[in-house]
Amino acid sequence: MTLKQPLFDRLALIGTGLIGSSIARAARTQGVVRSIVATARTEATRRRVAELGLADEVAASNAAAAAGADLVIICIPVGDCGAVAREIGGHLKPGAIVSDVGSVKGSVTRDMAPHIPKGVHFVPAHPVAGTEYSGPDAGFAELFVDRWCILTPPEGASPAAVERLDGFWRALGAKVEIMTAEHHDLVLAVTSHLPHLIAYTIVGTADELAQVSRSEVLQFSAGGFRDFTRIAASDPTMWRDVFLANKDAVLEMLGRFNEDIATLTRAIRRGDGTALFDHFTRTRAIRKGIVAVGQDSPAPDFGRQHPGLPGKDDK
Ligand code: NAP
Repeated sequence: MTLKQPLFDRLALIGTGLIGSSIARAARTQGVVRSIVATARTEATRRRVAELGLADEVAASNAAAAAGADLVIICIPVGDCGAVAREIGGHLKPGAIVSDVGSVKGSVTRDMAPHIPKGVHFVPAHPVAGTEYSGPDAGFAELFVDRWCILTPPEGASPAAVERLDGFWRALGAKVEIMTAEHHDLVLAVTSHLPHLIAYTIVGTADELAQVSRSEVLQFSAGGFRDFTRIAASDPTMWRDVFLANKDAVLEMLGRFNEDIATLTRAIRRGDGTALFDHFTRTRAIRKGIVAVGQDSPAPDFGRQHPGLPGKDDK
């Protein structure tokens, strides 16, 4: 459903990759803003954003994009957010809302907050939605539909600004939750950051095996490995920054994970089938819970399309 009255006049998107371009597409489709100005780090991406017609205007610098905008969303790797906030700080319109989409909230808040002038509202956010693809071509308007967007307003943030940003994300189809940056980083460490680290590890391990050839790994990947490879194909810059920025929470979760894997290792070594069965029963229930709350498809094999049997469609 398209809104009758836009929620913001001018939206500035700093960074127009997967997330920035999806926001642009969704905001357009839903009529959430009157106009969009976008920018990116390189001339090549800015040119592509213009070719795709994602924004009404493509600005040549971050400061030019931010100037005069009512809502500025920084959609770049978390390690650069502080520097970009410094670049745009002096160009922000009084009363504007500045937000981001970074996958880590504590470090981004610490890095950006000192550069946001008085009279401008800073409300960090994280849409928990994505794919393994990057860049402006990868985005799509439906990315946020039925996904959660977590807002982490710092202490003293304006409730009215939080409410406006909440309305923006809901208009893009997301469900909104509000929590502290610290809690966000702990929750995401276990639900997103650790799984990515495990996927990056296991795909690397398989690649380095001497006894199993690379072609065998690829050929028989449907045995579970294939699903890890999708996660391990995620953007290296983004994920390098996530692990550096959320170091403490990730190390805490990694410690627990190592203890649990030691327990399973012992169960396998001792032939303790009951321990393995009980553990797998518990994890299967978690998968059922994720499907029950609509966060994944109940279809077999994650809903992948399968080719028909040979001759099935022959007349
Ligand atoms: P992406 O597709 O790689 O796009 C990043 C964009 O940021 C590009 O347009 C890039 O421009 C631009 N950029 C980088 N440094 C910049 C700078 N200093 N000034 C201006 N623009 C700059 O990345 P993404 O997947 O959209 O991720 C962006 C943010 O969203 C990250 O913080 C990530 O943690 C968060 N996030 C990602 C996902 C996901 O699944 N991917 C999900 C939720 C949240 P160039 O192309 O010119 O370099």
